[in-house]
Amino acid sequence: MQISAQISRFHGAGTPFEVCKVPVAPNPDNILVRVSLATICGSDLHTISGRRGAETPCVLGHEAVGTIAAPTHFRTPTGKPLREGERVTWSLMASCGTCDYCVNRSLPQKCDTLFKYGHARSEGSTTLSGGFAEYIQLHPGTAIYHIPDTMTDAEAVPVNCAFATVVNGLAAIGTQPNEAAVIHGAGMLGIYAACYLREQGYDPVAIVDINEGRLQIAKRFGATHTFNPDKMSIEEIDAALKGLTNGRGVDLGVEVSGVTSGLPNLITWLAVGGRCLTLGYVYPNAHAAVDAHHLVTKCVTLRGVHNYHYTALGTALRFVAEYRSRYPFAELIGHTYPLADINTAFEHAMRQEAHRIAITPGE
Ligand SMILES: [Zn+2]
Ligand SMILES: [Zn+2]
Repeated sequence: MQISAQISRFHGAGTPFEVCKVPVAPNPDNILVRVSLATICGSDLHTISGRRGAETPCVLGHEAVGTIAAPTHFRTPTGKPLREGERVTWSLMASCGTCDYCVNRSLPQKCDTLFKYGHARSEGSTTLSGGFAEYIQLHPGTAIYHIPDTMTDAEAVPVNCAFATVVNGLAAIGTQPNEAAVIHGAGMLGIYAACYLREQGYDPVAIVDINEGRLQIAKRFGATHTFNPDKMSIEEIDAALKGLTNGRGVDLGVEVSGVTSGLPNLITWLAVGGRCLTLGYVYPNAHAAVDAHHLVTKCVTLRGVHNYHYTALGTALRFVAEYRSRYPFAELIGHTYPLADINTAFEHAMRQEAHRIAITPGE
């Protein structure tokens, strides 16, 4: 069987995507997946605007779901066989399972021989390595999960980047029922953090953003209080948060805005003994100035976490399956474009009107 794939190629910041056809070379070591839906993540926008580098030409896109397109011997992380025609999602990266990071440090996302989808140079065996293409070839060491039949592609698609990252970060910093949380940033990660913390028993779950529309959406995802720093000073928000916590301040701060004021704001709002998780600074030179005196005198725990251990993807998928009737996950996906219109899709995503703009490569 000789098949070809329509793919998009990124050639560098300021250059339009090229959409072209390439032959699909069968590779028994990989698993071939036909991509049904892929979303434009904030980090894709960092890449196309040049804030962070990429090897070019590159097939971008790492938030994606699809259907297994050829027989395979691959299995899920829990050992279930994977069959042609089944709907799947997969970890952002492939890792070796044998190096020090994989075995001893529980950081497979930092594997010595890490391969990240949507980041590699598109050539040879990595020609089909991103989501903005009709097919993707997944490598050994990728955690592939079935998408539950009850879950739509739209509900599942951002889970393998945004939600799995949130689940992993919150597991790393630790959560406790009846604590107070404040989330800095009501983008995709902030929305997922809000509903996840609510279901972990957090109250209040406050969220901070300068975008009123996003704050309104956050309320539908479990946020109990919203604050807009364009309308209130940092000190006024501090006073409001102390009013919600018997004067203590918040126990857990979550930085997902990526703006450098986020970290110092959260340190200001934390209680004595508070913990701060930062996930948002995925671009270089994100210098944030904090009053380190507060870190010391409030005995603050600060934790940075990048990407995720693949088991977090399984947890995030189960969460969406369980709570899909309580939270309108599918509504986070805005307009959907065919792959041929990828340049228009990125222009739309740059306007930040919706949490995610989607592309349907396999149509
Ligand atoms: Zn992403
Ligand atoms: Zn490894």
